[in-house]
Amino acid sequence: MVRLMGDTGRKRSRQREAILEVIRSTSAHPGAQWVYDRLKPRIPGLSLATVYRNIRGFREEGQVISVGVVNGEERFDGLVSPHPHLVCGCCGKMVDLPCPDEAVLKSLTAGQTTAGNKTSGFVIDYRKTLFYGLCPDCAGRAAGSDAGTITVAKVKRRLVKAGA
Ligand SMILES: [Zn+2]
Ligand SMILES: [Zn+2]
Repeated sequence: MVRLMGDTGRKRSRQREAILEVIRSTSAHPGAQWVYDRLKPRIPGLSLATVYRNIRGFREEGQVISVGVVNGEERFDGLVSPHPHLVCGCCGKMVDLPCPDEAVLKSLTAGQTTAGNKTSGFVIDYRKTLFYGLCPDCAGRAAGSDAGTITVAKVKRRLVKAGA
């Protein structure tokens, strides 16, 4: 019994390490399914539920942050310091956005007496900034014959028509 628990414990911690490593080694801001797909060939016994459970644990420990829900799927980041993200509303691609006013935003989350919490009275714990739009690939697909403004809705219509 003791031995069995030991083996299970080792297996669990190996899976746990692998899940954290995958999330930290990519800038793709993956969802749980993406992490599972990456690891499944290497860890045949892995289940999607295990991936979800471990990610939840990492979030509680502050090792991983949730960066928002894109196309119905929650996405995660191993880069835990607050930073804004650009999201493609069409394909779901998510990238980091270097923010020129990072110092201002940092002072807000640090709870300093700045304009933000002076007016709202809020003590700010954390922030999540998402900018939605189109990634270069999707914008390129939309550009084609379209002389007007490119919108997510237009690209989506086009992809549906193309059966993509
Ligand atoms: Zn895109
Ligand atoms: Zn990020």
